[in-house]
Amino acid sequence: MGALAVAAALGCPVRAQELGPLGPLAADGRVTYFIAPPATGSAYRNGDADLATWALRAWERAAGGALTFVRVDSAEDALVRLYWAPPGGGQYGEMVPLDVHRKRGAAVFVRPETNAFGPDIAGRAADDALFRDTIVYLTCVHELGHALGLRHTDQFEDVMYFFGFGGDIPEFFGRYRRQLHARGDIATTAGISAGDLAQLRSLYALPLQAAARELELPETKGLWTPLRLVRP
Ligand SMILES: [Zn+2]
Repeated sequence: MGALAVAAALGCPVRAQELGPLGPLAADGRVTYFIAPPATGSAYRNGDADLATWALRAWERAAGGALTFVRVDSAEDALVRLYWAPPGGGQYGEMVPLDVHRKRGAAVFVRPETNAFGPDIAGRAADDALFRDTIVYLTCVHELGHALGLRHTDQFEDVMYFFGFGGDIPEFFGRYRRQLHARGDIATTAGISAGDLAQLRSLYALPLQAAARELELPETKGLWTPLRLVRP
């Protein structure tokens, strides 16, 4: 019981598991976002905002043009809001659903203090800045995945894998780290699996298709094109 509780706390909270997609979104799939300045005590490093932006772009690429993330200057105008939080509860991050002008939005909290996750993770992060950046980047991808409505999985290859299922958590980060030669490689290495992509498609293909039909737009781009190739 005790061990299970500790393991569960290492991931991120399980609340909001049946959220559905952001929005409803317009047919253009536009999603406004805001990246907050770092909170005091958050262990934010210069350039971490790049990691968050690359995580958003990774989901955007995965959506194949169906979603477009647009940065705005104030949190109030943003459907998705990302905050850098101090360490807490052994959690890498957290996502809290928001009501934004009657649309389902999300606040994402990322905790960049890698000393909070046990000696193995802390040691590797201290020795290797790219391992540390990997943790922060994949946490952004995972929590933004929740913001998009994706649920936890028990598949270790998924970025939405829940650490409460156990397994080699340093290797969860290590396999991504091994794909990097320089920090800039993160911008082109999504870390999103086929299973994650299938969840994204199942959430957005039909709503965006319906929104396009309302506007009588041609259904030519993005998630719904490859969806037809996927057998049930
Ligand atoms: Zn999670």
